[in-house]
Amino acid sequence: MSTTLTAAPAVTLPSADSRSVLTELRADCIRERAAALAESATSVPDAVAVSRAGRLLATIGEIDAALLRIDEGSYGRCGHCGAQMSAERLEARPFAAACVACEERTR
Ligand SMILES: [Zn+2]
Repeated sequence: MSTTLTAAPAVTLPSADSRSVLTELRADCIRERAAALAESATSVPDAVAVSRAGRLLATIGEIDAALLRIDEGSYGRCGHCGAQMSAERLEARPFAAACVACEERTR
């Protein structure tokens, strides 16, 4: 594992990059969901595959919402407290709608 000593600056990723990251992620989710759905369509429905397909659909919805936020210019901002999310946060979860603190509070 490579480590860097530079502190993560609280800057937004350029939205063009964010958009391509999200678009790729969305395509991955759709592919994975298709695979999960194919798995769950066997004679005995596979509960794990069914729930995975459901989770992937929810993620696709979150990605769509993030893409919309890029269009609206609010991408990278927490939907709860309005704080700018760290680049680290957006790298770990590019479609995050809330900062870590808010997400933990609402969990
Ligand atoms: Zn927040």
